[in-house]
Amino acid sequence: ACLAVARPRLVLLAAPRSFCAGVERAIEIVAEVLRRRGGPIYVRKQIVHNAHVVADLAGRGAVFVEELAEVPDGATVVFSAHGVSPAVREDAARRGLDVIDATCPLVTKVHAEARRFAGRGDTVLLIGHEGHEEVEGTYGEAPRETIVVADAAEAALVSVPDPSRVSYLTQTTLAVDEAQEVVDVLRGRFPALRGPGTDDICYATTNRQQAVAAIARESDVVLVVGSANSSNSMRMVELARRHGTSSHLIDDASDIRPEWLARAGVVGLSAGASAPPYLVDAVVAALDGLGGVTVEEREVTHETIRFTLPAALRGKGQ
Ligand code: SF4
Repeated sequence: ACLAVARPRLVLLAAPRSFCAGVERAIEIVAEVLRRRGGPIYVRKQIVHNAHVVADLAGRGAVFVEELAEVPDGATVVFSAHGVSPAVREDAARRGLDVIDATCPLVTKVHAEARRFAGRGDTVLLIGHEGHEEVEGTYGEAPRETIVVADAAEAALVSVPDPSRVSYLTQTTLAVDEAQEVVDVLRGRFPALRGPGTDDICYATTNRQQAVAAIARESDVVLVVGSANSSNSMRMVELARRHGTSSHLIDDASDIRPEWLARAGVVGLSAGASAPPYLVDAVVAALDGLGGVTVEEREVTHETIRFTLPAALRGKGQ
C-alpha cells in the first residue's frame, strides 16, 4: 500500500484573465437594451465568442442572427464586439434598422487605421485569420486595397502592386510573438513597410498571454476557459503549449477529462477575454471536488481599463 499522504493540488490562477473591457461593455450594451426596451432585440453574430454568454442573453430575450436579412424591418439590432464592415452599416441604414453598436473601441481604432492607410495609397496587409468576424469587418473598410496575411509563410509570398507603399495592421487577438514574426518577414521584404502607431494587438490579449506564459512553466497542465471560436482563448492554449506544457481549452468544468489531471500536481488556470469569471470559479470548485486544491494567483499586471457605454444607453433611460 502507498503510505504517502496525497497533497491537495495546487491551482495557479493567471491574472489578468477572463473578461476584458470590450467584452464587458458589449454584454452590458445588450443587457441594457433589453432592460430599457424588453425583448426581442436582435444581435448580429455572437455578441462575444462565448457559448455561455450567448445562451444567457438568449434566455433574456436577445435573438442572435447571422445576417441582417434575418432582422425584421424597424427592429433594434446590436452589432457585436468584433465590428462590422461599412457594407453592413449601409445595409442597416437602408433598412431603417435601429442600430446599437457594441464594437470594441479598440477594433474601431483598427478600422480607422485601415481607412487612413488605404486612403494614402498603400496596400494594407492585414495580419489575421481569414473568416474571423473582426477580420471581415476591418477588411471591408478597404476591400480593394487590403490583403489578409495569415502567417509568416503567407507573408513570404504575398505580392503587392507597389512595394514602396505598404502598411500592415493586425487582428486584435493574435499571439504577440507570432504576429511579430510575420511583421519581421514583411519588413524584410518591404523595407518601406509602415504600421500602426501602437500595436493593434489589444492590451487584454497581450496581458492574458503574458499571464499564461508566467504560469505555464510551473504547471503540469494549463486549462483555459473559453469557446473554440474565441481567437484570444485559442492563442492562450497554443502559447502554453509553446512553453512545453500540455494545455486544453474548456467551455466549462464539465469538459475537464480526468486523464488530464492524473499526474498533474500543479494545474494552471486562465480564461479568455470572452469567458465569464463565474466559469473559472466553477472550475476551481470542480478541481476542489477531485481531492482538494490550494489556490495561488499570479498577477503579472493590474487592469483598470473600462469603456463607456454608447451615449444612447447612458443615463437612466425610459
Ligand atoms: Fe476589445 Fe481586446 Fe476585448 Fe477584443 S479582446 S473586445 S479588442 S479589449
